[in-house]
Amino acid sequence: MLKGIGVSKGYGIGRVVIANETQISYVSKKDCNPEKEHERFISALDAFFKRNQELAKKLSETVGEKEAEIINGHIMMMRDPYMSSEIEKNIADGICAEDAFARVCDTFIAMFSSVDDEMTKQRAVDVKDIKTEILGILTGTEILDLSRIEKGSVLVAKELTPSMTACINKDNVVALVTEIGSKTSHAAILARAMEIPAVLSVVGATDELKNGDVIVVNGITGEIITSPTNEQTAFYLQKRLEYISERKALSRFIGLESKTSDGIKVDLYGNIGTPEDAERVLEYDGEGIGLFRTEFLFMDRTSAPGENEQFEAYKKALLIMKGKQVIIRTLDIGGDKDIPYMGMKKEENPFLGFRAIRYCLKNKDIFTTQLRALIRASNYGNLSIMIPLITGVDELREAKGMIKDIMDEFRANDIPFDENLKIGVMIETPAAVIMADVLAKEADFFSIGTNDLTGYTLAVDRGNADVEYLYSSYSPSVLRSIKHVITEAKKAGIPVGMCGEGAADPMLIPLLISFGLDEFSVSATSILSTRKELSRWSKSEADEAAERVMSLDTERKISQELCKITSE
Ligand code: PEP
Ligand code: MG
Repeated sequence: MLKGIGVSKGYGIGRVVIANETQISYVSKKDCNPEKEHERFISALDAFFKRNQELAKKLSETVGEKEAEIINGHIMMMRDPYMSSEIEKNIADGICAEDAFARVCDTFIAMFSSVDDEMTKQRAVDVKDIKTEILGILTGTEILDLSRIEKGSVLVAKELTPSMTACINKDNVVALVTEIGSKTSHAAILARAMEIPAVLSVVGATDELKNGDVIVVNGITGEIITSPTNEQTAFYLQKRLEYISERKALSRFIGLESKTSDGIKVDLYGNIGTPEDAERVLEYDGEGIGLFRTEFLFMDRTSAPGENEQFEAYKKALLIMKGKQVIIRTLDIGGDKDIPYMGMKKEENPFLGFRAIRYCLKNKDIFTTQLRALIRASNYGNLSIMIPLITGVDELREAKGMIKDIMDEFRANDIPFDENLKIGVMIETPAAVIMADVLAKEADFFSIGTNDLTGYTLAVDRGNADVEYLYSSYSPSVLRSIKHVITEAKKAGIPVGMCGEGAADPMLIPLLISFGLDEFSVSATSILSTRKELSRWSKSEADEAAERVMSLDTERKISQELCKITSE
């Protein structure tokens, strides 16, 4: 049995497909017939164009325009006349098509890799991809295409990038297993959005598992059964069916209010990464958007989206939500979210480094573009802006100052926007917790980011498997922080929500009710289960649970007690 972190619930039983980088071998030949090699190369190019045009079309239809752009970029590279003339020169010298092409690719790869600029380095990665694909066609080597893997596959990889994950056809992939990644990595977030069971951080998965092995993936416990017996397979097939029907049963919570058993109403919102995700939030009856992670708009492309493109994306989310509140978080890059073309340096401690609001305040052109797009979009619905990784009131003041300047300019130029636009703060650093009373005087609302708050409070890197045992929102320090933030928000009379994974955790829900959390923002697929959990508790029962738990002094005692209380 293998074990990792269960990041997307459900059970997947299927055949392993290892997503390895394709290795291609061929014999270099000199003194070839140039005419014949030219023909071989042209027909390989034709096959490449055909395959990629189809893929780009499919991607733009099923996933989005920005994913399709990556593939269109590859097509454009191969249409570059300089590149083809260099290849043809080699072919004319009698070199075989494989070598003629590979040599030119290698020159470009070396050239792009040597430049100290992330965007140029990314081009080297693109050329490597193209090289593998065209050499694959020339040599007849099978190249794994994630969008085309067979029905019933469990995809196993060292790491899945967001763009790889987005390419997956969810009808064919029954589970995901990777060696790298955590609950909050973007592959995990996408897996949950697609409802594919996933276990990440499985050490040695690509060595231990072989293509074609039948395995059982338990996305709840993080366990992987490598050679299931017939009994085990039958057992998990049954569990899978039960899980699916349980999810269906949740549909009776569609259309109900989100409230405790004694009628205390809270707001139940969804987290999104693209405007289209808002449709899913509505599908699951979400009452608003509590977190739009805008960094997804900047990923898997070669340059930042401009003001108009961003404006259209924010406007789209607002129009989909038809007047319901949409909280859009400003760019949160850095940490585990590197965007190659944004010119960020490699950092020793990226989670403690040049991230989120810190980056934005030092790159005012990028920040201003986003704020302008947001403020323009505010005219089309109920938009609120949220600032991530705040550590003190000076950062909030500076961001608010920039927003005010843009609003003044818009007013002077008759550009319409929402004059009541709210500006909130994400509470995800211990500094923000300690300064909550001060921040509450200048922020319109708080949203607690338990993913980062847990990591920063306990000084644990969320993606580091060695210290993962410490990463727990049940730690008394984290719970006291959450309680303190909610109390301070109440004192100041501002609403307080939670948009980290903690908001969907059934073990935390009684505590959050007791502390008085106003808004829960969870992934679309957790909206109905959260509504169900909320309806299980009355305020007095939640208070009693909180009193018992908050008197305990260790994470272990608290998690055991919460487990007992919530399963009673
Ligand atoms: C959080 O830190 O809890 C959060 C919601 O932000 P992210 O996971 O995007 O860092
Ligand atoms: Mg965060």
